[in-house]
Amino acid sequence: MTPTRWLAEYAWLPDQAEPTADVLIEAEDGRITAVTPLGGAGTPTAGVEVLGDATRLPGLTLPGLANAHSHAFHRALRGRTHGGRGDFWTWRDVMYEVAARLDPDSYLALARAAYAEMALAGITCVGEFHYLHHGPDGTPYADPNAMGAALVEAAAQAGIRLTLLDACYLTATVDGEPLTGPQRRFGDGDALRWADRASAFTPDGAHALVGAAVHSVRAVPAEQLATVAGWADRRGAPLHLHLSEQPAENDACRAAHGRTPARLLADHGVLGPGTVAVHATHPTSADVTLLGDTGTGVCLCPTTERDLADGIGPARRLAEAGVALSLGSDSHAVVDLFEEARAVELDERLRTRRRGHFAPAELLAAATVAGHAALGWRDAGRIAVGDRADLVTVRLDSARTAGVPPVGAFFAATAADVASVVVDGRQVVADGRHLKVDVPRELRTAIGAVTR
Ligand SMILES: [Zn+2]
Repeated sequence: MTPTRWLAEYAWLPDQAEPTADVLIEAEDGRITAVTPLGGAGTPTAGVEVLGDATRLPGLTLPGLANAHSHAFHRALRGRTHGGRGDFWTWRDVMYEVAARLDPDSYLALARAAYAEMALAGITCVGEFHYLHHGPDGTPYADPNAMGAALVEAAAQAGIRLTLLDACYLTATVDGEPLTGPQRRFGDGDALRWADRASAFTPDGAHALVGAAVHSVRAVPAEQLATVAGWADRRGAPLHLHLSEQPAENDACRAAHGRTPARLLADHGVLGPGTVAVHATHPTSADVTLLGDTGTGVCLCPTTERDLADGIGPARRLAEAGVALSLGSDSHAVVDLFEEARAVELDERLRTRRRGHFAPAELLAAATVAGHAALGWRDAGRIAVGDRADLVTVRLDSARTAGVPPVGAFFAATAADVASVVVDGRQVVADGRHLKVDVPRELRTAIGAVTR
């Protein structure tokens, strides 16, 4: 097979503080086979024959962006929950109304459109934190993994990779109240039955992996946590969980178990290098140390945390403790990893009233290599030989980015500036358009079908 070649005007290579000019990137069978900086003089040193069949990528080419935390169906809520007052808990009631209307067909349509929007934003891999398992009254579908299969198919049709984080969700509260109403479809009864169902699922396609999730300490009784952790551990699969998004969760956990959620999870073997805590907005200082000492990662979702009035997580303190930070668009109030990345820095500025907490290369790592690792794809997220050929090219000539130095792209560009996206060597987005999906039209139709 002939290698594919691209000539990037600028490319951000691993371990570089800023982008490199004029980089020839070659790939074969979806893997990068050569990365050659051509001298940075604006003219390739080897002349015309180097250009030859290479596709020019004007602008800044980044590794694939990884969206490490997604609930695809929340995309239907965008703009529908923003008029009223309330908090996370009142928002959740509206979210449950949409959850109650989905079936495998409507979920496929909605997720396909949501994932195609992600592709347009330069996201080459998504972590889908999946708990809409069963029919609306909790009765399993004929295929008990029909909803998960719909998500896997949706990612294939949208042209991106997916890690299906199959969430164990058993109870409504930390002290074990049963699931009721719209929550019934989330539940498998107990962790062993969750494990049986999850084990029975083999995703259709090399673009998908399966991991595990503990929805939160609210949703899995303490004595069943080890069952989920053990399942992930035996498979070497990623394990994700929502952690301390709300002070109320901490208070309830302390009241029921006499310790914080992070401590409870650690005591039951849930934390560790394969685990990613999502949000970690309200950890104690001891929790931050615990996350770092156990090698647990944290996925920050700043645009959702701001939308839901959750608060500002201690991003710099987590990084100082040794925690690998990744990023997620979570509720999809915004699907833009440039916005998530700069929010990590800008939120610290608001809190501390000082600038300069994260170097641009740290924000890039959170959006790319750390996110892919959090989702179990350890061969993605870098423009490096042997890695997957994911290339995301950002325009440097738009109204937002014109005149901006390439290193400043994370503070200037938006998802709308993504011109070209290559996933595993395949072109998915060209000239800012998805090659297979009419994204606005499909979003409108799919959302119309599940909202009032
Ligand atoms: Zn979430």
